[in-house]
Amino acid sequence: MHFTLPKIWAMTSPSYTVGTARRCFALVPAAGSGSRSGADGPKQYVELAGRAMLAHTLDALAQVPELVATLVVLAPDDDQFESAVPGFQGIVARCGGASRAETVANGLAVLAEQGALPHDWVLVHDAARCLIRPEWVAHLIATCADDEVGGLLALPLADTLKQAGADVGAGARITHTIDRRSKWAAQTPQMFRLGLLRPALLQAGEDVTDEASAVEALGHSPRLVEGALENFKITWPADFVLAERLLRTRT
Ligand code: C5P
Repeated sequence: MHFTLPKIWAMTSPSYTVGTARRCFALVPAAGSGSRSGADGPKQYVELAGRAMLAHTLDALAQVPELVATLVVLAPDDDQFESAVPGFQGIVARCGGASRAETVANGLAVLAEQGALPHDWVLVHDAARCLIRPEWVAHLIATCADDEVGGLLALPLADTLKQAGADVGAGARITHTIDRRSKWAAQTPQMFRLGLLRPALLQAGEDVTDEASAVEALGHSPRLVEGALENFKITWPADFVLAERLLRTRT
């Protein structure tokens, strides 16, 4: 898919959002190695309920009518996508970076090259959250469409939060308990205007693990939109078993 609209320089202030037309693009970073997952290869290609994890993710996004296009950002040497996700109708870019933030930043540059404008919304969604449902994405869009900053799906924290000392794994011990009130766990999609997210990520650098952190660092307060427990990120070996079970029993 190619967009032929003129390019406009990125702006750092969200104040230009008022009164502008609304187009939503999805950007799926899928260039990670998934080193914590215990899988043989990149976790996005692990089969769940008969299809690659990434195929489930992209299929759900394809069912969101508000999204005009989806860009998937792969590792430069990815040779599995076309066979794992046959018939994908969106944009494919093999320009993933060393970190998630770099992958997203590179993807935003591709969207801009393709004609996405600074006031267009970009919904960044982890390939590894393959249990996303179209209606959750639509709810995020409906809630944030008139927001000055943007927002993300997230969950209020239910568990009591413990700070561990330097030891990790089996030897870990608590140093103190963190007050869980007002704490939320960030999920994706995270929805921001292209003209805000691009400079935010450039300024934030490699270490941010989500888009909201980069936007917060510019002094903005993204909106928290309550998501679903099922929209967890497949990270650890046991997550694959749970995701498979959920996918197979869905109605
Ligand atoms: O590793 P983690 O599960 O936190 O990664 C979240 C998402 O970011 C995944 O979809 C993964 O493929 C993507 N990612 C990426 N480029 C990287 C690292 C992670 O696209 N260099």
